[in-house]
Amino acid sequence: QVPDALAKEGPVSPSYDWFQTDSLVTIVIYTKQKDVNLDSVIVDHQYDSFRAETIIKDYSYLIHIELSHAIQEDFSVRVVANVGKIEIVLKKKENTSWECLGHPLENHNSLIPKKDTGLYYRKCQLISKEDATHDTKLFCLMLPPSTHLQVPIGQHVYLKLTIAGTEIVKPYTPVSASLLSEFKEPVIPNNKYIYFLIKIYPAGLFTPELDHLQIGDFVSVSNPEGNFKISQFQELEDLFLLAAGTGFTPMVKILNYALTNISSLRKVKLMFFNKTEDDIIWRSQLEKLAFKDKRFDVEFVLSKPTSEWNGKRGHISLDLLSEFLKRSSDKSKVLICICGPMPFTEQGMRMLHDLNFSKDEIHGFTA
Ligand code: FAD
Ligand code: NAD
Repeated sequence: QVPDALAKEGPVSPSYDWFQTDSLVTIVIYTKQKDVNLDSVIVDHQYDSFRAETIIKDYSYLIHIELSHAIQEDFSVRVVANVGKIEIVLKKKENTSWECLGHPLENHNSLIPKKDTGLYYRKCQLISKEDATHDTKLFCLMLPPSTHLQVPIGQHVYLKLTIAGTEIVKPYTPVSASLLSEFKEPVIPNNKYIYFLIKIYPAGLFTPELDHLQIGDFVSVSNPEGNFKISQFQELEDLFLLAAGTGFTPMVKILNYALTNISSLRKVKLMFFNKTEDDIIWRSQLEKLAFKDKRFDVEFVLSKPTSEWNGKRGHISLDLLSEFLKRSSDKSKVLICICGPMPFTEQGMRMLHDLNFSKDEIHGFTA
């Protein structure tokens, strides 16, 4: 029986079908939604389980089966957005005819509120690790060939390591490989690489272990989570980003996406709060981007500067914000994103309300 709340508020349940040729098996998911894209589906083939999780609003539709025959490691995923159809094309190991797709596993063919689904992990390999500052590193992880996963802008994943016999899990926000297109890797099919900027805390529980991994070692990576929505960019004219320390991480993809895809955008301003100059992540890339793209400006604010620092000083304050948050016109459509240590984000959000920005104009990363 369908629970009342689901019947009233939840989306119509997707359905699926499959067909085959001599060499291929295609699973088709009819989402019955229009706004699906390659971020909407996460596919994993691990051990004996084939799993395709389709995200529809706050729900998750799961295909979960033990396939009846062996398939090759890699597969392709296509989306026909205008009809809301997702196709997963599997390559058979042997060219025999399959009588059935396989046996259903837990929650197969069901639509469940996302909050009730557990996190699913796959093991990713550490490909590279470079210094971004004295204590923050850019990690590159590679997804297994049997996974299709793209982390949506503004969302995070959980990394999991077993430390002294106990599984430890912490959230991290993927970034782009760089802020400047000339430094970017050539376009890699299937987005197999995920980049993270992670600060190593010498007395921390998780990050020293992560730092001790060797190239080639594995870390488990979860499905994405988070409530930032790309629709918040619609018709956007002014984008203000308030970041403190590693709270810069969600701003990286937001910046790249907004400057590349939002044609209505007039101005993007980042106010970046750090303790010292040495703590500023990707300072020279930010300065180059500001030089290259006239719509973008960056301002650094230091809470523990040396006496030589000529820029702004102190913590987040009403004075700093009211001077910084100038709309390009009276009625311009504005979005303010804020992320950093909890007290920073909470104080900042209170100040933004005091400055009469509405709830819809503020996105706080408070997860
Ligand atoms: P912890 O063990 O949590 O310790 C952190 C610091 O606090 C250390 O300096 C430690 O010495 C100190 N400390 C610990 N316990 C105490 C105590 N009782 N009293 C005083 N001090 C103490 N971080 C990133 O670097 N990059 C990201 O992209 C990123 N994304 C995030 C996304 C989300 C949604 C959230 C919520 C957090 C994100 N973080 C990110 C932070 C990350 O999840 C971890 O909190 C961080 O890496 C610290 O982990 P740790 O286990 O190494 O340190
Ligand atoms: P940090 O200690 O280096 O501080 C950076 C700046 O934050 C300081 O210069 C100061 O301006 C401000 N700040 C710090 N504590 C403050 C306080 N109590 N009140 C007001 N302002 C304060 O920062 P860090 O070590 O890089 O930590 C970054 C934080 O961002 C972590 O707590 C991390 O969990 C969080 N984070 C959250 C997300 C998310 O999506 N929710 C993503 C990335 C990082």
